[in-house]
Amino acid sequence: MEIPYKIYLEESELPKQWYNVRADMKNKPAPLLNPETHQPATLDELSAVFCRELARQEFNENDAYIDIPDEILSFYKMYRPAPLVRAYCLEKALATPAKIYYKFEGNNTSGSHKLNSAIAQAYYAKKQGLKGVTTETGAGQWGTALSMACAYFGLDCKVYMVKVSYEQKPFRREVMRTYGANVTPSPSDTTEVGRKILAEFPGTNGSLGCAISEAVETALHTEGYRYVLGSVLNQVLLHQSVIGLESMAACDKYGIKPDVIIGCAGGGSNLGGLISPFMGRKLRGEADYQFIAVEPKSCPSLTRGKYAYDFCDTGKVCPLQKMYTLGSGFMPSPNHAGGLRYHGMSGIVSQLYADGLMEARSVEQTAVFEAAQQFARIEGILPAPESSHAIRVAVDEALKCKETGEEKTILFGLTGTGYFDMVAYQKFNDGQMSDYIPTDAEIAKSLADLPQV
Ligand SMILES: *Cc1c(COP(=O)(O)O)cnc(C)c1O
Repeated sequence: MEIPYKIYLEESELPKQWYNVRADMKNKPAPLLNPETHQPATLDELSAVFCRELARQEFNENDAYIDIPDEILSFYKMYRPAPLVRAYCLEKALATPAKIYYKFEGNNTSGSHKLNSAIAQAYYAKKQGLKGVTTETGAGQWGTALSMACAYFGLDCKVYMVKVSYEQKPFRREVMRTYGANVTPSPSDTTEVGRKILAEFPGTNGSLGCAISEAVETALHTEGYRYVLGSVLNQVLLHQSVIGLESMAACDKYGIKPDVIIGCAGGGSNLGGLISPFMGRKLRGEADYQFIAVEPKSCPSLTRGKYAYDFCDTGKVCPLQKMYTLGSGFMPSPNHAGGLRYHGMSGIVSQLYADGLMEARSVEQTAVFEAAQQFARIEGILPAPESSHAIRVAVDEALKCKETGEEKTILFGLTGTGYFDMVAYQKFNDGQMSDYIPTDAEIAKSLADLPQV
């Protein structure tokens, strides 16, 4: 069958349920722990921070399929299905016998896959009768997505934006404000934890871990508010399974069988969402695939971190999670421009990796931006730096096929567009971008502060 450049599903073929890969995992991810007692967190404890239905999803490891509520389905229909693209032009330019496909999640105003979970989280907050939600945002995609989702359901949205990106990306901030969000640079003097961090590290650029602590504190102290998070959590991977389910349906429709499936990994949500249904087949013994997580060499949680319980945030207020981590105090070097800077990793992805069901690779940022530039020129889409980690490894795999003559089918997740990342692109275009690889001693230092569990 002739494969079109773009494979779209019909509206009627869109998934009506999310897929929960935990149901098919023999070794389930370890339970979240209360940060003070180190006992497994309870539904009531989690519901004080998160919306109740989302806390339930966080604990649900038995239901393989969970219905997508109609209100969310109709929002999905505004920007989904996302196309599965056959990268004919890239294949030709690389002169590779490999067949390359990518699932493009950048076709919405927020510019990334994050909207898939934002709309679900806003829906459950609204359904619970809440007034608003708080969150953090680093690069800004999550904050933008959540602002859009909150505007749709008429919820207040308070965003703590990592200070360096608040200053570097004023237009991201304006998009959020246009959708009605209240945006505060973090650390700020609006929270106790923010004031403490400012006193300890005056002039700090902020970090994701710190912004999370501020957002959680504000949610806990504001009547009718809960905290929402755009990655890492089980519930987020569940919502993001829509990426993998659509990809799998499109592949099945055209008889495409991917050999290698590649995703970039920050907190693991797009990767987890893309691979989940394929991983389900692998776990059930129905098919086999090679899965590759790609992370920056400057923030290498899977490839150089430790699989251990750790804090999810700098303020140490969130539940402890067992994950591959570099330590909650780890900060990627200031020259790191490519995103994916979270110190930890999704518990689901961590367990799958620990069980040898998937691989991980780390790549240097100059090599990532070379791939980004090449992709932009050949396939036309200006990719987000984060997404470009996956492009790098997809291109590397395709070039390997050129040497061996193998006609592998490669599928990768193109998570978003890079229009707001022009400061990073400018650095690259000016030849000012450098690589930095943390030393073993630096990683050991931040790992020394892991909680004793
Ligand atoms: C947030 C983001 C990522 C990384 O987050 P994951 O949870 O690891 O998916 C990757 N790409 C884009 C475009 C993003 O916005």
